[in-house]
Amino acid sequence: MEAESFDYIVTGAGSAGCVVAARLSESGKYRVLLLEAGGKDRNFWIHVPMGFSQVYANPRVNWMYESEPEEQLNGRALYQPRGKVLGGTSSINGMVYMRGNAADYDEWRQRGCTGWDWDSVLPYFKKAEHQERGANEFHGIGGPLRVSDQPFHTELARRLVEAAIQAGLPPIEDFNDGRQEGAGYFQSTTGDHRRWSTATAYLRPARNRPNLVVRTNAHAARIDIENGRAVGVTYMNGRAPQTVRVRGEVIVSGGVFNSPQLLQLSGIGPGALLQDKGIPVIRDMPAVGSHLQDHFYVRLAYRCTQPITMNELANSLPRKAIALAQWVLFRSGPLSGNGVTAGAFARSDPRLERPDLQFNFSPWSYASRDRGGAVAHPFPGFSLSAVHLRPDSRGSVRVKSSDPLAPPAIRFNFLQTQSDLQALTAGMRLARKFTQQPALAPYVAEEIIPGPATHSDADFEANIRQNANSNLHPVGTCRMGPDGESVVDPRLRVHGVTGLRVADAAIMPTVPAGNTNAPTIMIGEKAADMILEDARRA
Ligand SMILES: Cc1cc2nc3c(=O)[nH]c(=O)nc-3n(C[C@H](O)[C@H](O)[C@H](O)COP(=O)(O)OP(=O)(O)OC[C@H]3O[C@@H](n4cnc5c(N)ncnc54)[C@H](O)[C@@H]3O)c2cc1C
Repeated sequence: MEAESFDYIVTGAGSAGCVVAARLSESGKYRVLLLEAGGKDRNFWIHVPMGFSQVYANPRVNWMYESEPEEQLNGRALYQPRGKVLGGTSSINGMVYMRGNAADYDEWRQRGCTGWDWDSVLPYFKKAEHQERGANEFHGIGGPLRVSDQPFHTELARRLVEAAIQAGLPPIEDFNDGRQEGAGYFQSTTGDHRRWSTATAYLRPARNRPNLVVRTNAHAARIDIENGRAVGVTYMNGRAPQTVRVRGEVIVSGGVFNSPQLLQLSGIGPGALLQDKGIPVIRDMPAVGSHLQDHFYVRLAYRCTQPITMNELANSLPRKAIALAQWVLFRSGPLSGNGVTAGAFARSDPRLERPDLQFNFSPWSYASRDRGGAVAHPFPGFSLSAVHLRPDSRGSVRVKSSDPLAPPAIRFNFLQTQSDLQALTAGMRLARKFTQQPALAPYVAEEIIPGPATHSDADFEANIRQNANSNLHPVGTCRMGPDGESVVDPRLRVHGVTGLRVADAAIMPTVPAGNTNAPTIMIGEKAADMILEDARRA
């Protein structure tokens, strides 16, 4: 029997994959197949803004990866949630809408990524967006992705913003105009007080298109390559492997861990590694799976003097039942927002040209948060995390075997440099300073983490090594660039292989200074545009 064939095959229906598949199928001219290893986004909690804690460690919708033990972090293995469901990680993330700094993208261009400077990518951010505040120079309306202000700000969130301003930061209205520095309120990828994943934004409106086939529980195991050209994909869906052929291109959108894994399984990657795992080498490309980078963060936690935090909700069954009823019946109440409503951007050193620290305020505090889920403190509490946005540390993603279902080895190598440690220490000191300002100090009963005994650089270092973590914004494992040090060129074509592109967070040459979902959606928009443009030219 002849294999099915498509004009385009997209592997992975995540933040970028849904965008690419929806845009390529828009005209009706091309037959597009979207393969997703996870299932449909039917889990109730996906769609509740405050429900993200319920999908943080749920194996039905989450890959639940773990890093190898981190040498500089006392040998800790870091939990890595990733969405395994339609919408990918945009279906399980914290929904903060953040683009990064204009200079981040200008830097991409300076690294040889022509067409990726701020002025060139801004139209794609705007194209994706339906901005609740309306259109202006920086924002768009009418796009699929709803971007909203939070339904409410807690008293503590308002106090945090005031305190950060008292500590010397300027107030800021819009964190997404490319400048960032200051304290204010975050927007979120929500609409009508529901999560707006890329499955909701892009796939749902496209689902009745006869030329778009979405296959769930379909795990891409290999890209089939003949004579240097991608000709199809072999995938598994519980039964025998299926092979589908492609007339145009294969677009790999499996995310920062699975995209390099799929390339390596297909013979594109570090030659010695592939040989060692018994995978025939098609193209020796050391950059595949290299250059992993991520924001690095540490959390400060406080016992609050008043019962005005989310811990009281988390620790009370009747309150939870009422909150659930409020959301189900009226789309209101504490579950209607993502909770991460306020924060700030600042510089760890005044000599820097742009912010390298992000502060996220949460009106809750937890005793633990890992693959066992999050457990709130049994008393009123709040947290402030300090995130280092521009770490030097680089890690890797490598297949452990030729089995496509085996998780890859993930190594972050955090704290490779002294300056990464210094920046995060400065972040902790500044976060603590916020809590000591007149606006917030009356709400602080006690600092729980790192605790009042933490004063010297050595104290902070010990805390960072024991508690700091990946901020879940990993990128760079299929990085874009002009040469062999990279995996894809600025049109996202895999170097040396025809008919094959990567489009997701893995292609970012450096991590932007902010949460990574909006930049990944921008990448999906631009990728689709370039693919269609190349098809018109062919
Ligand atoms: C808990 C958490 C909270 C976060 N919070 C925020 C936030 O508040 N704001 C923000 O901007 N960013 C946030 N992020 C980061 C952001 O969501 C990600 O950077 C972004 O979603 C990455 O998109 P992607 O397209 O690269 O990958 P993904 O969205 O992960 O998509 C990859 C898709 O490919 C599928 N797949 C993988 N391998 C295969 C295969 N072999 N075959 C078929 N399908 C496959 C996966 O199942 C998945 O659906 C958060 C991340 C996490 C984990």
